[in-house]
Amino acid sequence: MDKILEINEEYAYAIVELGVSFFDLFNEIQKRGLNLWPSVPAIGWGSVLVNTLDRGFGYTPLGEHAQGQCGFEVVLPNGDLLRTGMGAMKNSSLFPLYKSGYGPNIDGMFFQSNLGVVTKLGIHITPAPEAYATVEVSVPREEDLVPLVGTLSDLMRRSVILNSPSIANIFRIALTSRESEVHEIFGGYMKPGSNVPYKVLEDIRCKQGWGFWKAYFSLYAPTEVLPSLIAAVKRAFTTIEGVEIEYREFAGIPGKCITAQDVEEEEIPHSGIPTLAPLAMLDSRQEGSGNICFSPIIPPSGRELYFWYLTAKKRTYEAGFDFFADFHVYPRYVIGIDLVIYTASETIAIDRLYRDLLTDAAGQGYSEYRTHVSYIGEVASHFDFNDSAIRRFNTTIKDLLDPNAILSPGKSGIWNSESQSRIGK
Ligand SMILES: Cc1cc2nc3c(=O)[nH]c(=O)nc-3n(C[C@H](O)[C@H](O)[C@H](O)COP(=O)(O)OP(=O)(O)OC[C@H]3O[C@@H](n4cnc5c(N)ncnc54)[C@H](O)[C@@H]3O)c2cc1C
Repeated sequence: MDKILEINEEYAYAIVELGVSFFDLFNEIQKRGLNLWPSVPAIGWGSVLVNTLDRGFGYTPLGEHAQGQCGFEVVLPNGDLLRTGMGAMKNSSLFPLYKSGYGPNIDGMFFQSNLGVVTKLGIHITPAPEAYATVEVSVPREEDLVPLVGTLSDLMRRSVILNSPSIANIFRIALTSRESEVHEIFGGYMKPGSNVPYKVLEDIRCKQGWGFWKAYFSLYAPTEVLPSLIAAVKRAFTTIEGVEIEYREFAGIPGKCITAQDVEEEEIPHSGIPTLAPLAMLDSRQEGSGNICFSPIIPPSGRELYFWYLTAKKRTYEAGFDFFADFHVYPRYVIGIDLVIYTASETIAIDRLYRDLLTDAAGQGYSEYRTHVSYIGEVASHFDFNDSAIRRFNTTIKDLLDPNAILSPGKSGIWNSESQSRIGK
């Protein structure tokens, strides 16, 4: 279950089995010298297939893995073997090329689901570009989040920016910086039951000349187009007072693709080079700390994100933790990740905080795109249109496909009828 079954450079896709990691796929592409930039999450240790099933994301233009998915092979609870999309045709070469197949599209039933064990995946990959630039946009004030996100999502809707920009706040900028002086200051605050005061963060920000927010994204283009894209991006942000734009440009050679060796490992893997480097920051509160991400989906203007952010920041600080912002912008939504690092002695406090964040967000009409296993039922309970019609529908399907609830009962809040009435779900 760990084989790369095919990598096709011409059409830019791969077919992988369940156990293939992002590192495996990247290394094989390098070994074969293919001009492909596979998407990888911030840390590359996971399974390409399972991360896709969980609606995970990476940082190339095809970083929304559930969108890049094209064809599943699935073992159903009764042991039957199913292929979705064009894979439903025997020996179809279109399995990794045309997602829809014929009739109802059933791929969606296997995301974040307990209706089958997915064993193979077709996944689209971004071709290596001719020219490439990594861009960082810093804005000075906390409220600048609104125009920053609004401008980024507009540039995405217009296909100027193709990969999802990530946004860091001053806490994250400081924590991931190489400034030993900053880490010494953080050391005095980052420990169980304590967090870094905003006054201290503001002093650090002013002294270092950093922005309150920093957005990271890249531009991918033919050589002739890249300079114009850079100019268009610069022009779009001129309305934000005090904005600073830095970029690293790979102007490229016509007809030749940029390689991973040209770019080298990046802080955020926009060119698909896998890394485990971000794991180091998880030890910053205490060695061996855990982390949990509260990840609501929010409309993309920046206004709604800012409003949610202020309430979540207050909650996080009052609970004694730091707010590490890992926001991700897409054309029509943003994911506002509040990544919280906690120690073993803080499990009760972190659980209370997470439940408060869930309740606050639900009150604002938002829910998470993906959640920790402890909260799958609570997140599902927020999908309550028409007396939770979606739950009834999922139970009907579960009863049909897996009447004895063999596969992951309760995953994403989906139970069969028998368990549901027994445990009162
Ligand atoms: C610092 C840090 C940064 C991170 N950055 C990112 C990021 O940028 N993007 C991102 O997406 N994630 C990120 N993560 C989360 C995580 O590390 C990755 O998503 C990783 O890929 C998860 O492992 P996995 O994909 O193997 O899935 P797992 O977590 O092992 O599995 C997910 C779920 O899939 C289900 N499942 C497993 N196998 C099957 C199967 N065969 N069929 C059906 N269902 C199945 C199970 O129910 C399981 O609960 C980050 C984590 C950390 C700590």
